[in-house]
Amino acid sequence: MITLKNIVKAYDGKKESGRAVDGLNLEIRKGEFVALLGPSGCGKTTTLMMLAGLLKPTSGEIYFGERMVNHVEPKDRNIGMVFQSYALYPHLTVRDNIAFPLRERKMRKPEAYERAREISKIVQIDHLLDRKPAQLSGGQQQRVAMARALAKSPEILLLDEPMSNLDARLKLDVRDEIRKIQRDLGVTTIIVTHDQEEALAISDRVAILNDGRIQQYAPPNELFGQPVNLFVASFLGNPPMNLVPGTIVMSGGEQTIATSGFQYRIPRERQLDAAHIGKPVKLGLRPHDMTLTGADDPEAIPMRVDLVEHLGSGKLVKVTDPNKKLESMIRLLTDNETDVQSGDTVHLRVRADKFHLFDMT
Ligand code: ADP
Ligand code: MG
Repeated sequence: MITLKNIVKAYDGKKESGRAVDGLNLEIRKGEFVALLGPSGCGKTTTLMMLAGLLKPTSGEIYFGERMVNHVEPKDRNIGMVFQSYALYPHLTVRDNIAFPLRERKMRKPEAYERAREISKIVQIDHLLDRKPAQLSGGQQQRVAMARALAKSPEILLLDEPMSNLDARLKLDVRDEIRKIQRDLGVTTIIVTHDQEEALAISDRVAILNDGRIQQYAPPNELFGQPVNLFVASFLGNPPMNLVPGTIVMSGGEQTIATSGFQYRIPRERQLDAAHIGKPVKLGLRPHDMTLTGADDPEAIPMRVDLVEHLGSGKLVKVTDPNKKLESMIRLLTDNETDVQSGDTVHLRVRADKFHLFDMT
């Protein structure tokens, strides 16, 4: 449905200098909900503006279906867009705000108002049609912006950080609503966000961007479970993945990751190619993929508890190597029932199917 082919955007027009977007390839299926996720400045908004037609790519092609749209004007792209600021017209009522894009298309007033009423019902603001934006809460303004974007029944909905002005609680509600409206209307939707929780919760697929390039494009589970590189691994997850430097060695005839503090025997089902022996790696351990076991567990790693933080839903336990050889601290999550105090010696068990390895070469 939407294809981005090798898109480059350099704001000064010179491909060689700083590229806000640097060779981006992406395919979005009809009706799909896709998030562009990445740190501030990675090129998300720039990509969205090119989809909207508000910016032209320096090179590369954008297709909607079979049609190359690089030179198609924004108004002819059949898209709806919601900006971070909502950009509502302050002097117009909610009704006129929603009807605005329809009136621009020369729809007659009674029809435009009827359509505004219809769409305002879907986003549940039909009781606010006579108000001005200043008389609305942030959440209500957000819905007006959604309604305005949807009024033309666009084929594509583009959302740029649409929830960043809402408080945490409201964000959750609005997020569910956006998803529901999107499903009901079947509109292909691309959301830009730097909020990983939001992106993972709402999307069919997420494209992780860094420095104007896609790092990985996959469904949320896959990104989280099989990150393809260190950037994705360390970007996703809260608390973040522990990354411990080590080397793959043979120890007692078994493939083992030797870190400065402990040895981790690689489980049978995850054996590596012999070419990896002797190579530096990073061992990635997610905080919720480790458990605490007894001292009698031969695979367990002895650690000292430095700090216990109560998160409400559980405890975040920070442990260090009692022999001080391992430089980095390791974070793990336990349930509230687990009794751990700082100063305790604990035994760390890594679930065999849950460690990650990243090549450093
Ligand atoms: P994001 O939305 O991911 O935060 P942007 O797409 O806004 O990132 O920006 C990507 C890069 O392009 C940043 O380095 C930013 O400073 C730069 N940039 C954005 N807009 C302009 C502009 N109008 N002129 C020059 N550089 C810009
Ligand atoms: Mg942005």
